Amino acid sequence: MGNIISGKEVSTALRAKIREKSLALREDYGIQPGLAVILVGKDPASQIYVRNKQRACEELGFHAFEYKLNENYTQAQLLDLIGVLNKDNKVHGILVQLPLPDHIDSQVIINSIDPSKDVDAFHPVNVGKIMIGNYDFLPCTPAGVMELIDSTGTDLTGKNCVVVGRSNIVGKPMAMLLLHRNATVTICHSKTRNLAEICANADVLVSAVGRAHFIQANMVKEGAVVIDVGMNHDENGKLCGDVEFDEVASKTSYITPVPGGVGPMTITMLMQNTLHAAERKAASRK
Ligand code: NDP
Repeated sequence: MGNIISGKEVSTALRAKIREKSLALREDYGIQPGLAVILVGKDPASQIYVRNKQRACEELGFHAFEYKLNENYTQAQLLDLIGVLNKDNKVHGILVQLPLPDHIDSQVIINSIDPSKDVDAFHPVNVGKIMIGNYDFLPCTPAGVMELIDSTGTDLTGKNCVVVGRSNIVGKPMAMLLLHRNATVTICHSKTRNLAEICANADVLVSAVGRAHFIQANMVKEGAVVIDVGMNHDENGKLCGDVEFDEVASKTSYITPVPGGVGPMTITMLMQNTLHAAERKAASRK
């Protein structure tokens, strides 16, 4: 059985550091990191995510500005609200919980966020900066995965890393972060041929597909590091990842569980981004 990477432990250690820095920022500069979270509508999963983000703010000494808006809120109203938050000095990070209702164009909304407050790193300016490798914010889930890989002490230089999934939120930026660390990266998706073979050649395998039981033991190299980003429900309604955990774990050197792996990292990285935005504000005052 491979070593299990505890996202909870890595996240708890990181949060302790973030809290310390957040309190120091308040003491030294009178700046309290502020995160505005906007939720339009009543999507149950989104409500849970928003609540968890608010809790994280409380735990780390951040100011949470919460906007729970009804599902008829218009795109124009949302753009006005973001315009106000862009100018508000107490707000260092703005997060619009996705998905938005159909009558609102998510990309228009993302584009309206001041890139220096775009703590999700979804704005095209921040996406471009990630591509170049000179970024202010790292996208939260891929950044969390990098922390988990680093916690194993794995040197990524020259390693074969395979990312399954090519979404703008996870797969693509994930591949870019691995590339910046000198890995040889392959991105797989639904049209990839010989997927099992490609995965079986990976020293580090990151699965971000969204299908239970997707990664089977025959797709994993002996001694690989396996990171499971997937969040699915199995036939019994139980939360699970993409990886067939028990049979795959016996082949790996390190593996993340679901729950308790990548999940706890995402909000922590959001908090880290908000802290960095507030720190940059403090530095600009010097
Ligand atoms: P998307 O649905 O946007 O992307 C899924 C990707 O998987 C696509 O690129 C798709 O390929 C690929 N895919 C689907 N079926 C196959 C297949 N049979 N073979 C190979 N590739 C396939 O999902 P996200 O990237 O947003 O999320 C992925 C998973 O990660 C989900 O389970 C989500 O819940 C989870 N997640 C977890 C987070 C966390 O904090 N733990 C945060 C964000 C996401 P194609 O592009 O060709 O369609």
